[in-house]
Amino acid sequence: MILADMHNHTIISHGEATVAQMYEAARARGLSWYGFSEHSPLPPGYACPLYHGDLAEDFPRYIEEVSGLKDAASPRVLLGMELDWIPSRMPYMRELAARWPFDYVIGGLHFLGSLAVGSPKNWGRGESEEERRARFAAYYREMTRMVRSGLMNIAAHPDFIKVRCPESFHAWLDMPGSLELVREALRAMSECGVALEVSSAGLRKDFAEPYPAPAIMRMAAELGVSISFGSDAHSTADVAFAFERLAAYARSFGYSHSVAFQARQPFTLPF
Ligand SMILES: [Zn+2]
Ligand SMILES: [Zn+2]
Repeated sequence: MILADMHNHTIISHGEATVAQMYEAARARGLSWYGFSEHSPLPPGYACPLYHGDLAEDFPRYIEEVSGLKDAASPRVLLGMELDWIPSRMPYMRELAARWPFDYVIGGLHFLGSLAVGSPKNWGRGESEEERRARFAAYYREMTRMVRSGLMNIAAHPDFIKVRCPESFHAWLDMPGSLELVREALRAMSECGVALEVSSAGLRKDFAEPYPAPAIMRMAAELGVSISFGSDAHSTADVAFAFERLAAYARSFGYSHSVAFQARQPFTLPF
């Protein structure tokens, strides 16, 4: 059984439930550890149209509410943040990561330059397969930089770029050289002590595949990369979503332990 769900959002960004409601769902699922990882406020010039309000203004309330649950016993609460990796804004990211006493920071690679990789507006608009392949390659080069930045403890949904184009992504992954780029990112994780997130969010999509795909899991296991489990829940129904399937998936590559982080230090949990 997976004991920790490390990736969860609330109504403060674009989730549907409050901190208290999400915690209650985690308790009902029988988790031992529950990590809140709300989105980071975006720097000037970037926007997410899905956010309900002004995240920069509301974020301190998130910190306060999660911190207020720190004494709760079952599950224990961890304070995290999913930090948008925007390398042109290094001082901004550093300042955010240092401003509050996070147990851990998840690196979210949602932008490639100014391209929002998850937005349906950016896919199927006449771009060629070659352009898509260039995006995939750029995505893994950026992931390597993100992992080596020292800002992150966990690399979120490590093939999120497939979300709007799973066939193209899998075709690219099968091409010579692609896995070499993935290997660079995984080697960085292994060397820097950054965990690879294994996420059930992909199981809620039409393609019904966890993040990351099997070829990436296989390579991660070979390189000894540690893993962290997350549901990327945006509602109470998503908390610990499909965790039995996710555990079986990770076990099929030889994993038997995941990591969680407290005060930025990893600890292992069996599953
Ligand atoms: Zn994300
Ligand atoms: Zn997320």
